[in-house]
Amino acid sequence: MNNWGIPDWLEKEVRERDKACVYCGILMIEKMPQRGPRNAVATWEHIINDASIISRENIARCCVACNSSKGTKKLSDWIRSSYCKKRGINRDTVAQIVKEALRLL
Ligand SMILES: [Zn+2]
Repeated sequence: MNNWGIPDWLEKEVRERDKACVYCGILMIEKMPQRGPRNAVATWEHIINDASIISRENIARCCVACNSSKGTKKLSDWIRSSYCKKRGINRDTVAQIVKEALRLL
């Protein structure tokens, strides 16, 4: 288990799958840089903001910028936020895993 209660097998699987931010598609880096922008650092994300849903459908990785912008907002609300508009993030541009979550909402 890592700090987020994600079992090792799932962590490995999601790390393999999400090399790019599931929201904005930026190629992520693993370590916090000593200096310079930290926006591309990879973070763990619950697509639906419910920490009890630990599945390959709900656990994903996204960049610091998207994670802090999304915060506790509902995915369906956040996807219409000015942050997403400004970056051209929408239902058609997000990763498959996010598209599926949006379809279920
Ligand atoms: Zn992002």
